[in-house]
Amino acid sequence: MSNKRAFITGISGQDGSYLTEFLLKKGYEVAGLIRRNAANETGNIEHLISEIKIYHGDLVSPESIAMALLDFKPDEIYNLASQSSPLASFKDVFGTMMITGIGAVQVFERVKQIVPKAKIYQASTSEMFGKPSQIPQNEETPFSPANPYSAAKELAHRMAIIYRNDKNKPMFISCGILFNHESPRRGLNFVTRKISAAVAVLKNNKKEGIPLNESGEPIVKDGKLTLGDLDAKRDWGYAPDYVEAMWMILQKDSPDDFVIATGEMHTVEEFAKEAFETVGLNWKEYVVVDDKFVPPVQTGPLLGDFAKAKKILGWEPKTKFPDLVKIMVHSDLAKFT
Ligand code: NAP
Repeated sequence: MSNKRAFITGISGQDGSYLTEFLLKKGYEVAGLIRRNAANETGNIEHLISEIKIYHGDLVSPESIAMALLDFKPDEIYNLASQSSPLASFKDVFGTMMITGIGAVQVFERVKQIVPKAKIYQASTSEMFGKPSQIPQNEETPFSPANPYSAAKELAHRMAIIYRNDKNKPMFISCGILFNHESPRRGLNFVTRKISAAVAVLKNNKKEGIPLNESGEPIVKDGKLTLGDLDAKRDWGYAPDYVEAMWMILQKDSPDDFVIATGEMHTVEEFAKEAFETVGLNWKEYVVVDDKFVPPVQTGPLLGDFAKAKKILGWEPKTKFPDLVKIMVHSDLAKFT
């Protein structure tokens, strides 16, 4: 068992919660940074709260990062905090830049000053490939971000490499270029979760307390689920598989970048078809499209080549696409009764 200390920003998010479970099982002492809200809700880590240490703070408050690092003195830092929605980033350009871009640099700089020997994992994203010049994408594929979110992520990614290569004070910062990964803990503003939740609402014939989408509307209205671009192509994996890769990346002796993906591409339509079929429904009878869910500049097709991660880390995805869809649908069937 490990006696290491891991500090996670964005601990209450999808990945932060799975990573916490994973590291606790490995014997880590885990702490995380969360933004305090009026209701004092802790998101996806409510069930873990007694086993971890919480620091209240914000990525745009460097002082709060510094205080946590000074007190906890972690060996490993996982910088997962982010405004993480590409579509939402068009509506909050500056907030996204400050949190997802500059916020990451704040973390790097505070780590450099306070715990310079600590290893940092930076959550980079396949969205940085934008409209990619090659399929599949690997660590050498040029970036061409197509939304404010991925532009901010590219800033953080480039800064990670600059800190890493500083010959006077090189830092251990590794970047995981993760392709989309989903789970029952995915936010309802993401298309996969919107689909699994809507399938559950429709199958369970739920009429009250229907979950809301990012526009504040019920995800199922008049018996229909509204989606954006059904032809959008993504490489979707299962989040618990991907947090294991984050940890593996930090166990290496030197920092590096790794693409983490399944190597399989599917359309939104295929996801919807698979999800509705899981409960014996025909997606065509329930799905309508609306351009408001299509980003003004489109990303993709995204398909990841994880050969480097397989060779150097020994990582490969465990969960196949149909199983991922079923996990999400079955979880939502039990949740939205
Ligand atoms: P998520 O569920 O949206 O979680 C994001 C976390 O960041 C939440 O805990 C959120 O806390 C926190 N956060 C947001 N703004 C913050 C701020 N100003 N200060 C401190 N914390 C803040 O995202 P995820 O899916 O777990 O993804 C984890 C990371 O990987 C993110 O950086 C994401 O961009 C990146 N990534 C994700 C994917 C994917 O497919 N999931 C793929 C590639 C990269 P609140 O609850 O307070 O909002």
